[in-house]
Amino acid sequence: MKIGFFSAKRYDIQHFSKTNEAGNFGADIEFFDYRLSRQNVRLALGFEVICAFVNDELCEEVLTKLYASGTKIIAMRCAGFNNVDLDAAKRLGLEVVNVPAYSPESVAEHTVALMLTLNRKIHKSYGRTRDANFSLEGLVGFNMHGKTVGVIGTGKIGIATIRILRGFGCEVLAYDPFHNPLAEELGASYASLDDIYQNSDIISLHCPLTKDNQHLLNAESFAKMKPGMMVINTSRGGLLNAVDAMEALKMGQIGSLGLDVYENEKELFFEDKSNEVILDDVFRRLSACHNVIFTGHQAFLTREALDNIAQTTLSNVSQILAGKKCGNELF
Ligand code: NAD
Repeated sequence: MKIGFFSAKRYDIQHFSKTNEAGNFGADIEFFDYRLSRQNVRLALGFEVICAFVNDELCEEVLTKLYASGTKIIAMRCAGFNNVDLDAAKRLGLEVVNVPAYSPESVAEHTVALMLTLNRKIHKSYGRTRDANFSLEGLVGFNMHGKTVGVIGTGKIGIATIRILRGFGCEVLAYDPFHNPLAEELGASYASLDDIYQNSDIISLHCPLTKDNQHLLNAESFAKMKPGMMVINTSRGGLLNAVDAMEALKMGQIGSLGLDVYENEKELFFEDKSNEVILDDVFRRLSACHNVIFTGHQAFLTREALDNIAQTTLSNVSQILAGKKCGNELF
């Protein structure tokens, strides 16, 4: 099994190499540290399996070239797959697999870390106390207990987030086209999006990005929200219109914003850009706000999640190459 592995970082190489050896998968993995794109697809030709991540470009053009060179499987080592043209893959006869549940808790815990950091202004205290500034001015937060959190998407990560929030004593309003009995068992109540916008002190996104929910949070939805509320997005950048969010922050409509994902992240995230001038003005304006926190798509990044990702990805691929079903096929 010859795998071309794109967007490889040191932690990926460590966890995949360890799991490959420990599980006797016998995979011959070539790691490339850059993102797969139309421009460099020629370097990916000839691999039976392409292992890709959230910002690799798997459009029709790339998939067609891969298929023509003998690729059989696109193994996404993540849950989301909005960057794969599934229709094209199906038409070509490529198998596409993902890792639907490597550790919902990793993302849920990071989501709540963003909420608490913004609320209790830990990012400011960290800088202040290192400078021996022990003033508490401007650091007033609020009790999570008794606040209402709107959770959009009640799949695996949404449920793990609700579980933590209910532990804090939050009320949870949930929205999902498919109701999950677990949400109600945990004490959440399903509501319309408008109800969530009007009544939530915090809104957190946990649904996939699809053709139908691009910019789900936009000027219109921000206008319906409680002034000064908090928005958290650890799901996919395209779910939130970042330009509209900037305007809503300027007007105080949004009081704070925590983003682990960003619409134009593929030009920025996962690389060290600290010696470059960032050309993305929206990102620069947002990240300059005292009440906005960015993390660079790291919500998944725990040891447990990396081990599970490696185990499931290698087992997906070996089962399919052995002519079996792995259960994680996307069609
Ligand atoms: P899941 O499939 O278990 O749950 C997704 C839920 O969203 C489902 O219940 C589905 O019915 C619901 N949904 C679909 N469209 C919706 C819409 N328009 N409005 C509201 N709900 C909708 O997925 P999951 O494991 O919970 O992951 C959720 C998302 O989190 C993924 O799609 C991915 O984009 C993102 N994610 C981010 C990271 C990260 O590191 N930041 C890591 C993993 C996953």
